[in-house]
Amino acid sequence: MKLRIFLLVTSYCLLVTGLCGCQNQQLYTDNRIMMGTFVEVISPYKQAAGIVFSEIKRIEDLLSKYKPDSEVAKLNQSGKLKVSPDTFFIIKKSKELWQTSDGAFDITVAPLVDLWGFTDKKYHLPREGEIKNTLKLIGCDKIILHDDDNMIKFKLSGMKIDLGAIAKGYALDCAVNKLRKAGIKSCLINAGGQVYCLGGKFGKPWKIAIKEPRGRDFTGYLELKDKSVATSGDYEQCFIKGKARYSHILNPKTGYPADSRIVSVTVIASSGLTADALSTAIFVLGKEKGKALAKRFPDVEIKIIEKENVQNNR
Ligand code: ADP
Ligand code: MG
Repeated sequence: MKLRIFLLVTSYCLLVTGLCGCQNQQLYTDNRIMMGTFVEVISPYKQAAGIVFSEIKRIEDLLSKYKPDSEVAKLNQSGKLKVSPDTFFIIKKSKELWQTSDGAFDITVAPLVDLWGFTDKKYHLPREGEIKNTLKLIGCDKIILHDDDNMIKFKLSGMKIDLGAIAKGYALDCAVNKLRKAGIKSCLINAGGQVYCLGGKFGKPWKIAIKEPRGRDFTGYLELKDKSVATSGDYEQCFIKGKARYSHILNPKTGYPADSRIVSVTVIASSGLTADALSTAIFVLGKEKGKALAKRFPDVEIKIIEKENVQNNR
């Protein structure tokens, strides 16, 4: 479970409430395990958490490869499926991001994710031949999308998709849409370090802290309003064998875990989907190419920490 971005809002805000005694400055917090992580909701509106949880559940039920009845699980099984508008939208977006990122962001990495044991957490180092064979199934050019009837088809049997690098961000966007429709103007959602700050907190930006990659300290704070922030790093889901650290973000071109010298990349964007997908893509691309990619998105800011800048850089 990831808790890379820690929220300082809870205790801070409760303190403010206590000090000024303002009834109207109360914050409600609630949390739940969803999408394989800890989802926390903080808002002055009591009904916010319920809205967020039900919308995230709706998206998880469509997109989780771990849920046998989800559209993604069914598509992975049959290689062909007419899907709902949400699923079609996110797969289409993923294909666009694959193109824009020059193949660094690629949802067809699923067979590689399985091969390295990241799906069932039984990690192992594949042989070169296994990687070479599996690479034949990789590439979003092998996903065919039919806009007219929302049909999705895979060109090769054995292909699978994994939306793990984009689904949480999309779920946040959907939840925020629902909140806006319900007239809720202030809410913070933290889905395991993937955060959306809707509006501000009592007129000020939400304040969140970023944890140091290999330690316990905080590297800095972000003050955000109507923005999402996502971090991809090599330090949460990874395994270590010998002297090497193998991260769960894979380079779709080589079939090996990304080795771009980046320890963590944080992306701030107006949409959760963009922040989530770009953080993964930039982690694969490395600093220079990653910065160039981010520049193509007008509202995106990034912060990169490279191996040479952390103490224990194994
Ligand atoms: P997290 O889910 O830990 O926040 P990411 O958003 O970077 O981190 O997503 C990583 C997940 O995305 C992996 O666990 C895997 O399922 C999938 N994935 C791995 N490599 C890629 C890639 N190059 N492009 C798209 N998805 C990937
Ligand atoms: Mg991501």
